[in-house]
Amino acid sequence: MHEVSIMSSIIDSVLEELRKHQVERVEEVYLTLGSLTFLGEEQLQFAYDVLSKGTQLEGSRLVIEKEDVEVRCRSCGYQGPADHVEEIFHGLVPVLQCPECGEDVEVTKGKSCTVRSIRVVEKDVSVQG
Ligand SMILES: [Zn+2]
Repeated sequence: MHEVSIMSSIIDSVLEELRKHQVERVEEVYLTLGSLTFLGEEQLQFAYDVLSKGTQLEGSRLVIEKEDVEVRCRSCGYQGPADHVEEIFHGLVPVLQCPECGEDVEVTKGKSCTVRSIRVVEKDVSVQG
């Protein structure tokens, strides 16, 4: 399962980040997930639950935010959603074309699998309400 190794390194980097702060408890971890990563949301959630056990992240929630594909065309300057996005899921190597001129494009969005932010409860902060 590809998702497990990906999630393992994500959790490692989150834990490393947490070490720099006085964190009492982690509530939510926001993950940006591009459609071009081919990673399953459910598998990532499952891997998160399993791998976070026994760490500072145990009991926190993984919030996955999907990132749509966006491309830039060097030939005509087009920027936006790609053409034939559906088709790429059937092939191993995604081939995206410019909807304006049909040239190959550069992917600017949709390949992310990164933690955008972490919601934590800090130590020594009085609880309100
Ligand atoms: Zn173009």
